[in-house]
Amino acid sequence: MVSFALSFRTRWLVLLGLSSTLLACAEPMRDPAPMLPVRPLHTVAIAPIAPIAPIAPVVPDAPPAPSAPPAEPMPYSAAVAARFPDPVGGLPTPAFAPGHPGFTTNAEIQTLLRSLVRDGRDDRATIRLLHLDTSQTGVPIEALLFTRLADTDAVAVAKSNRPTVMLVGQQHGDEPAGSEALLVVAQELARGKLEGLLDHINVVLLPRANPDGARDSNRLTASGIDMNRDHLLLKTPEAQAQAQLNREYHPAVVVDLHEYSVVGRYMQKFAAVQKFDALVQYAMTANLPPFITKASEEWFRQPLLASLKAEGLTSEWYYTTSTDLNDKNVSMGGVQPDTARNVNGLRNAVSFLIETRGAGIGRLHLKRRVFTHITAVTSILQSTATRGADLAKLRAFVEQDVASQACQGEMVVEAAATPSEYVLQMLDPQTGADKPLNVAWDSALELRKVKKRLRPCGYWLSSDQTEAVMRLRGLGVTVQQLDDDGDLRAEAYREISRESGVRQDVRGTISDGGAVVRVKVQTVPALMEVKAGGYYVPLEQPLANLVVAAMEPDTQSSFVASGIVTSVDAQARVMSRPAIQMTVLP
Ligand SMILES: [Zn+2]
Repeated sequence: MVSFALSFRTRWLVLLGLSSTLLACAEPMRDPAPMLPVRPLHTVAIAPIAPIAPIAPVVPDAPPAPSAPPAEPMPYSAAVAARFPDPVGGLPTPAFAPGHPGFTTNAEIQTLLRSLVRDGRDDRATIRLLHLDTSQTGVPIEALLFTRLADTDAVAVAKSNRPTVMLVGQQHGDEPAGSEALLVVAQELARGKLEGLLDHINVVLLPRANPDGARDSNRLTASGIDMNRDHLLLKTPEAQAQAQLNREYHPAVVVDLHEYSVVGRYMQKFAAVQKFDALVQYAMTANLPPFITKASEEWFRQPLLASLKAEGLTSEWYYTTSTDLNDKNVSMGGVQPDTARNVNGLRNAVSFLIETRGAGIGRLHLKRRVFTHITAVTSILQSTATRGADLAKLRAFVEQDVASQACQGEMVVEAAATPSEYVLQMLDPQTGADKPLNVAWDSALELRKVKKRLRPCGYWLSSDQTEAVMRLRGLGVTVQQLDDDGDLRAEAYREISRESGVRQDVRGTISDGGAVVRVKVQTVPALMEVKAGGYYVPLEQPLANLVVAAMEPDTQSSFVASGIVTSVDAQARVMSRPAIQMTVLP
């Protein structure tokens, strides 16, 4: 393991330097680095498997002369609308068929996905339909797997040396452009401009993650839970379906497609219209491996911004603002470990959120919104193909590094964005001219460490905490069961206070179907006598930082807060490696 005495930059250079070494000897990374020469960044051989030609963004030509789109009520002046011309050409999804009244329906998506399924032969990729589950009202949640591997079983795909990209659309049902874009991307991967990338990558494509919300034009799932705050707790079948894809395919890169409000509260707070075609962000949450951030920025975000710019599309960091009209702060998204963006980062994946300017404006500018998503996804697929070998090294290193931190040093229990200021470009709602605004800006680029604790070796759970064990295993976490009674050197939690509350994020109250418990705790050193049948969740595993997010009880995202762990007495921090015989749950 690389010594922690080495600087971040040195460790990064050492990691990159492994590329050529590992390609040559094709052995798993065991004891990287200190003895390897440290080379400057620009001399590192990145060595893609083969040169990959740049891909022109997909706007299929040969449209049937599109009929005039249905008239949209304009939420702003014609001068504003004129700043967002549609790209030329048609797009091959049902929503863009002449006369189609709305967005592509759930039934139309099912038909389209099935039309692409095929066995791989004659050097074509295999395309498999993955039936994951059904939504809360019984609509199938379905994805496609694209791979040129001979063995298309999930275990074989996850173990292959080709990185897998997972693309997710429309977690929020009233944000349709991502879903339409992924239907185009699916067709281009099957038989179009993106097909060649499958020589280098596998793709798992879930075009509509929340079919109930899409059918009802509702942000939330049918039960009222916001599924994009449910990726740690896994209350909804919709979030569980994505967790299943993560467990089975182990994607190295995950892209989550959304749309953001264009007028609404921005008009009310700032008397301005939102400007940017795309808001882009990667994972920003406590305990994220710094190399994942660096790779996200240098290997993915920079080429992505250039791709958007080359198409005449504007972009900015992702930002949002509270639904409270008196609160004029603007935030770079949530830093809690609950969104797909942040949870997938804690899974050690490069994890992106892409938002187009579309929520609340119906079909207005729809083609441009979809084209923006297609351009962004194309860039990320291409970056993954180019960086395949480096991503494999990065993943192996980070997983080993995260696991090796068990029992050592400190970890962050709670982090917060840093207050700062920013000049945000918006648009004048009448003239359409740029309208720069100085805003109070909560930056997630630098997170403040609000609460820290020593990093334990793992967590003990009492034998009755079967619900928590089931959720952890749903996340893909390894859990062990104690075969014998024994002693643990631990820190118990002593509850100081508790109150009922609601989960909050930078938008306001989170829709998660109920109240949470906010506890304050002290940690108390203890030699605990524990019984056979209890559980041990070791931090010597790649998902250790996801375990920390679930198990430290005094955060709003924790299992205790949501009642999944029933009491702080039912869990403890284990501070030295247990000497008790245990069995890994299958
Ligand atoms: Zn959204």
